Amino acid sequence: MKKITKFAVKGKKVILRLDLDVPMKDGKVTDLTRLKAAGQTLEVLESAKQVIIIGHAGRPKGTDLKYSLLPVAKALAKQLGVGISLVSDVMSKDLPETKYVMLENLRYYPEEKKNSAKFAKHLATFGEVYVNDAFAVCHRKSASMVAITKYLPSYAGVHLFDEVKHLKKILKVKHPFILLIGGAKLDKLAILNSLIEQADAILVGGTLSLSLLQSQGYAIPGNFDHDEKVAKKILKNTHVVLPVDLVLDNEKVVDIDEVPANRLAYDIGPNTVRTYSELLKAAKVVVWNGPMGYFEKKPFGVATKKLASVLKKSKAQSVLGGGDTLAATGVKGFSHATTAGGAFLSLVGSRSMPGLDALDR
Ligand code: ADP
Ligand code: MG
Repeated sequence: MKKITKFAVKGKKVILRLDLDVPMKDGKVTDLTRLKAAGQTLEVLESAKQVIIIGHAGRPKGTDLKYSLLPVAKALAKQLGVGISLVSDVMSKDLPETKYVMLENLRYYPEEKKNSAKFAKHLATFGEVYVNDAFAVCHRKSASMVAITKYLPSYAGVHLFDEVKHLKKILKVKHPFILLIGGAKLDKLAILNSLIEQADAILVGGTLSLSLLQSQGYAIPGNFDHDEKVAKKILKNTHVVLPVDLVLDNEKVVDIDEVPANRLAYDIGPNTVRTYSELLKAAKVVVWNGPMGYFEKKPFGVATKKLASVLKKSKAQSVLGGGDTLAATGVKGFSHATTAGGAFLSLVGSRSMPGLDALDR
């Protein structure tokens, strides 16, 4: 993997793949962590002729203004103190001649997720050099991450490069190694499954734990669209620990076998937090991705906050990842915090990282 240098980009048109999938609310970016992470690479790119920023947000099905990158372009422009023009038609032949250009959400085009060579080739026509600084997306085989590297000299951005170096160092795993996993993205189950051998205990919270409890036979309300086979496999492992109590949307605490059909569970309960805290206290390494509850809504961030404070006080190496996770816990007091969620877990679980492999070619 080659790290970006001033020499490689000076006077050139550079396509920069960033992690633009940032938390947004009512058309405004609510957390700048991921954009700030691009700061060092953008500094190196000051000597470039043009910087064409590409990325995605969310999981749109076709063009959908709800997923527009306009708020992201605005937030990044403000942070850099420059103008960024947003190009809404990614398929257009040429770009505005401003120094900074951002292309609209690449996931408006299904070709992006399909790693389409044709789509990548089109993107590549905009620049002379490609730089990937989107570590958080490196577990995905997308056109803007993988196929594009066939058409342009390709470099790792500063953030991506340092992140990989740092994580690999920390994760020469010591035991007890505890994985704390939560959040809402149910495809994390596959990653969890691949970490089962490595971890001494896997403590599950968030929507992920609700889906597993349901698979286990508990009457937890909600349609969880997860891979039932993987869920069943995970549940066979005795070191996978699930909540014993939950906090409902009406703030009542109930045991997992007492959830009324007309209520939703928004957090893990106090008994669960107690057990998880004890286990965390005994760990040497803790890897955490995914909030334990619906932390954006008060008071359902309580469990996440409590476990974060236990970790901050502990001597364990604590490595946190995930956009929402960091928004819920902050970054201070942990050994390492990364904005990447799925990518970070994939790296920990030694799963394939197509985005990184593409930079190695
Ligand atoms: P990360 O971004 O850290 O990788 P995810 O994106 O997987 O994490 O999940 C974060 C989301 O999960 C948050 O928006 C949070 O509100 C949601 N969440 C977690 N537990 C629950 C729950 N019990 N009910 C509703 N939402 C939940
Ligand atoms: Mg998230």
